[in-house]
Amino acid sequence: MVTGCTFGKGNLIFKDYGKNVYTFVNRTSEDVLRLSLNKSIDEIDPEFSNLRKKAFSQKASKQDKANFENQKDELSQKILDMDAAELFKMESIDLEIPEEARIFASVKCSKCGEFIAEHRARVENGHFACIPCFSEYSRN
Ligand SMILES: [Zn+2]
Repeated sequence: MVTGCTFGKGNLIFKDYGKNVYTFVNRTSEDVLRLSLNKSIDEIDPEFSNLRKKAFSQKASKQDKANFENQKDELSQKILDMDAAELFKMESIDLEIPEEARIFASVKCSKCGEFIAEHRARVENGHFACIPCFSEYSRN
């Protein structure tokens, strides 16, 4: 939200490595800033961490879940109040800057009627199909 990057514009690239790492590229200056989380929730707020474990356990009571929900806002505020340098390791790195995204037209899936980016559409009997609908077709 802060950067204005979106999946739709193709300037938000998601890589599921299971890490809290964010890389920002300025295409004009070619500056690259990489932020990686320095502290886990366990380190920031051990008490919250315990509430979370209780709330997500098989034996969680309604009270355990309520305690967890009530503490979430407090933890969010605690994180927002932290010094950025304490929360993140900040580095300027060399990175091969990704090619600029192309904007694709949307087409309608002939099966479910939902819109899909044209480059992700499949063609079945001369009509566009989204991947889930096309997969159902290919399984037959
Ligand atoms: Zn479909």
